[in-house]
Amino acid sequence: MSTTLGLASPTATELPDPTQSEQLVFCSDPELGLQAVIAVDDTTLGPGLGGVRFRPYPTLWDGAREAQRLARAMTAKNALAGLPYGGAKSVILDLAPRDRDGLMRRFGEFVARLGGTYLPGVDMGTTATDLALMGAAGADATCSTEDPSPWTARGVFASIKASAVHGLGASDLTGVRVLVQGVGHVGHSLATQLAAAGALVSVSDVDLDRARVVADEVGGAVVAPDQVIGADVDIWAPCATAKVVTSEVVDRLRCRLIAGAANDTLSEESVADELQAAGILYVPDFVANAGGVIHIHGLRVGWDHDRIGQAVDAIGDRVESLLTEAEGAHTTALAAADLQRDRILAAGGVQLQAS
Ligand code: NAD
Repeated sequence: MSTTLGLASPTATELPDPTQSEQLVFCSDPELGLQAVIAVDDTTLGPGLGGVRFRPYPTLWDGAREAQRLARAMTAKNALAGLPYGGAKSVILDLAPRDRDGLMRRFGEFVARLGGTYLPGVDMGTTATDLALMGAAGADATCSTEDPSPWTARGVFASIKASAVHGLGASDLTGVRVLVQGVGHVGHSLATQLAAAGALVSVSDVDLDRARVVADEVGGAVVAPDQVIGADVDIWAPCATAKVVTSEVVDRLRCRLIAGAANDTLSEESVADELQAAGILYVPDFVANAGGVIHIHGLRVGWDHDRIGQAVDAIGDRVESLLTEAEGAHTTALAAADLQRDRILAAGGVQLQAS
């Protein structure tokens, strides 16, 4: 096992820029094969809340840059959701550890050293069990006891409903054609809610069996993964992998609206302008998929599920006001969301809509 992964001679573009985060913390334990990075982006609104990713990275520097970028998105997500948290994210490099539990506990010790500045949650490659191990080692992981996915799906549903009414001139989702890309934890639940609301749902997944099962459940068609771009639908809901909307695909899109759960839906921010020029409305992922962090907050402050549900449903109102603001300013919803984030941070937070 390499414990000096990628550290030989990084180029200037490979290196993370430490000035881009409030704190950038490298954690290492060669005995356990632990290499991890915690990025705390901004704590203006409270401790940095964000998940722990556990996956392979080409180099430690790639992991660090990803942690910084995702931490930045968490700052915006938490701020726009009206939550009293800053933004943070961490990555643990998956170097095929022999003692995964020991590694998670050790990482929890490193998190605990930050004295509550970083609140870790479940993310790609980590589970509630991993978070419990971190918690046992002193990290504040109390917020990761339940699967947030149904709540994320509920918030995406609210976003799709609000943006369809706002942007497509629909009175509700009856007859609106929605393609859900990725029918895992979030996508499956989303497809079910959409179908129940009368939408004509089609689904796509690289796991074709899963796609067929969900398609049967919702009475819709299966779209092959390589046919998602260019599918003749009204709404595309990306709920699979990151960076599915690139400059290259904009011209081939036939949908009129994109709203989903996948973090980092756009390959880069400028794609939002290209979508706008092509007449396609894009709801920023960090606004639509905030149901999971709202659920975490609700658990932390002792809300029951009804109260959490109301707070998650309010994402629809926020999407509506964001789209209205963007229209008024002749800009994209992404640019309007960035401005809202800056305003909220400058004001030190917003009155919680569901506190
Ligand atoms: P998941 O792993 O349960 O489901 C993802 C699904 O996408 C799987 O069924 C997988 O087979 C499928 N998939 C992968 N590549 C695909 C492709 N190219 N085309 C079609 N399908 C593909 O993940 P999830 O928890 O449902 O999360 C979905 C997305 O939402 C992820 O990007 C995640 O980062 C984001 N997200 C999730 C949450 C949450 O609460 N789970 C919160 C915020 C953001």
